[in-house]
Amino acid sequence: MSYVQGRTGEWERVIGLEVHAQVTAQSKLFSGASTVFGAAPNTQVSSVDAAFPGMLPVLNRFCVEQAVRTGLGLQAQINLTSVFERKNYFYPDLPQGYQISQFQHPIVGKGELAIDLADGTSRTIGITRLHLEQDAGKSLHDQGDHATFVDLNRSGIALMEIVSEPDLRSAEEAAAYVKKLRAILRCLGTCDGNMEEGSLRCDVNLSMRRVGVTTLGTRCEIKNVNSIRFVAQAIEYEAARQVEVLENGGTIVQETRLWDSAKGETRSMRSKEEAHDYRYFPDPDLLPLTLDPAWVETIRQSLPELPDAKKARFVSTYGLTPYDASVLVAETATAAFFEEVAKGREARLVTTWVTVELFGALNRLGVGIEDSPISAHALGELLDLMADGTLSGRLAKDVFAVMLETGQAPGRIVEERGLRQVTDTGELEKAIADVLVASADKVAEYKAGKDKLFGFFVGQVMKSTGGKANPDLVNKLLKKGLGVG
Ligand code: ADP
Ligand code: MG
Repeated sequence: MSYVQGRTGEWERVIGLEVHAQVTAQSKLFSGASTVFGAAPNTQVSSVDAAFPGMLPVLNRFCVEQAVRTGLGLQAQINLTSVFERKNYFYPDLPQGYQISQFQHPIVGKGELAIDLADGTSRTIGITRLHLEQDAGKSLHDQGDHATFVDLNRSGIALMEIVSEPDLRSAEEAAAYVKKLRAILRCLGTCDGNMEEGSLRCDVNLSMRRVGVTTLGTRCEIKNVNSIRFVAQAIEYEAARQVEVLENGGTIVQETRLWDSAKGETRSMRSKEEAHDYRYFPDPDLLPLTLDPAWVETIRQSLPELPDAKKARFVSTYGLTPYDASVLVAETATAAFFEEVAKGREARLVTTWVTVELFGALNRLGVGIEDSPISAHALGELLDLMADGTLSGRLAKDVFAVMLETGQAPGRIVEERGLRQVTDTGELEKAIADVLVASADKVAEYKAGKDKLFGFFVGQVMKSTGGKANPDLVNKLLKKGLGVG
């Protein structure tokens, strides 16, 4: 467990996250307007979204299905009756003057989510609830010198607010929680998880307490943190700030804070005393939502294999470590890529090539696995060329680099560039003999007991064969050549 070391002792972080996930759906929660990202301002706004007088909301059945699917993916209680309420507040980008949300009776109740930590262990984090609500519009402050513009394209888009229990204890755990939640949402197809486009936004609640204390301290809520890295940074900053206040004899005021990513700090936005009284009440335009249990069951039957189940299968079928398995199942596309390459091949070797070589290359190129210049089929072929001795590990890396650059098949690269490893004994014996003659002085030293020089001879042979000599064979023949084999 990781604690914060203060001047007067150790402190424990207590963290709960509220994640707003935009529902993947073609139209909005209560209107038929499009949800496509990036359209020109105010081109995807129905009269319901603009709150024209007399307009009535009509619930989008698909959004409800998506919320149920997500609840089931989080092993959560599905509430067969839930209620939409009006959350009243004024904001320029909220033309209704209220947001339709769920409060006392959310569609999804308690669930859980297992987070995967870097040391290979997992912890279960409680989910408090998931409810459906409308997104607001967006104020654009940078479009003119003297005016703020309002874009209502986002107004009315369906969001799932997913609230965790205060079960998280570190920035690493919070980051792992968001990653896992995103993996589940993507796997279910209920949210694209795109944090840059704002499809996934996170409010971080954090309080501190002395190690050993079991009651909760007073928390602050940091609003709208929009990347996993910022979640981690905001937690570290805020934890240190609160410890500083507490150790100086101060008290934490419950308040809403903002994360300033440019300055790397949180700052006060409004205190609880200024907090809104939203005057929630059931929306009179909408009936309570009741679900048919058989329909919920149909959705349950249609769930895909979820990341945890896939992880367990990768550990048991392929013999991977829990950590490697969790890395590979984080994205559905990565898991599928891995499985295609692993078919009939050595799974641990495949894991290394995918998570080290391929991930490294994709990171450098800034592309996802869907756009990988090297297909699963091509990577498999490369591994086969290693398995049958055509390529050494070292040559395989060279071929891999050419594949990345040219998109050519490995077999063709080997043929055209003559990268086949040299396993011809006669050829290698000749190369070794040449090296030993050219370094006669070193050979004498070696024979006098300087064993370390063996590596030098190997290096020379490799060099003279352009890196193509089979390393095992070089070792064997070199020992023979030096009279020690
Ligand atoms: P609100 O509705 O005011 O946002 P909630 O009780 O719904 O308050 O809590 C919101 C989030 O804050 C939840 O994720 C919860 O786990 C977390 N939370 C509640 N109390 C604390 C606390 N003392 N320290 C840290 N997190 C907390
Ligand atoms: Mg809150």
